[in-house]
Amino acid sequence: MEITLSQYAGFCEGVERAYDIVEKIAKDPKVKRPIFVLGSLVHNSDVVEKIEKMGVQKVHVEGPLEDFFEKIKNEVGTLVITAHGIGPQIYDLAKKYKIDLVDTTCPRVIKVQRLAKIFFERDTQIVIVGEKNHKEVRGIYEWANKRAIFIETDEDLCGFNVDSNRKIAVISQTTQDQEFVDRAAAQILKKYPHAEIIDSICLTTHNRQTEISQLAKQNDVIIAIGSPESANSTRLWEISKRINPQSHFIQRASELEADWFAGCKKVAVTAGASTPRWIIDEVLEKLKKI
Ligand code: SF4
Repeated sequence: MEITLSQYAGFCEGVERAYDIVEKIAKDPKVKRPIFVLGSLVHNSDVVEKIEKMGVQKVHVEGPLEDFFEKIKNEVGTLVITAHGIGPQIYDLAKKYKIDLVDTTCPRVIKVQRLAKIFFERDTQIVIVGEKNHKEVRGIYEWANKRAIFIETDEDLCGFNVDSNRKIAVISQTTQDQEFVDRAAAQILKKYPHAEIIDSICLTTHNRQTEISQLAKQNDVIIAIGSPESANSTRLWEISKRINPQSHFIQRASELEADWFAGCKKVAVTAGASTPRWIIDEVLEKLKKI
């Protein structure tokens, strides 16, 4: 059985950067303790566990951000913002409550946040193509001063209606499905030709999606590795499955089933941006044994 590994499998630049920063501050005695991360640094339980072993704990925001800061003010020394980013309010609150911030927001996400802010200031109707409950999208929405419309599904697209006298700007979640974003943009432009479409899918996501479409055609079986909570990992599997029904989504090597490979001559392996290299290597090892 021939095994092909995606050239983009595993941590993207944004996640790699965030992980390296956390690893560095965990070893730095000058960084104020205790150190907490706002949610999962990446959507992968093995990585979260590894970070916890470095002494960096996960904390969840419940309710308004100001209440959260009030609650943690005596318990947290340093707070890490993940690569997904967060709304602008956190920077003032951290100053007010004297909590050090370490910001690992991916530069590509920062770009979309800034666009949301600019469009809001210009009184433009902002449309976000993305999952409204996803961490990155919630942050972008807050940078837009919570004045944006979401397009998450085809139904949202059918019911899409805005004031045609206003300027319209369409931005997207960095890890959205390119095909859906293109479809949404085309439909919006048909109805509102003056809409400004900004393709804010990040290059890494774009490359991964293009590559998996090819691999799904060229291989008998596809293995996509990632966590079900990871939007970009799930998306890779969904794209692959549309082309090749023999596409399987796993979190780790132990989930591989020998039956999937009966008569299989070629298998390709891909992995989401939050999947660490050690999990990919374990999967490759097990595939070789199969
Ligand atoms: S998927 Fe793209 S935008 Fe998201 S963290 Fe990785 S590089 Fe940044």
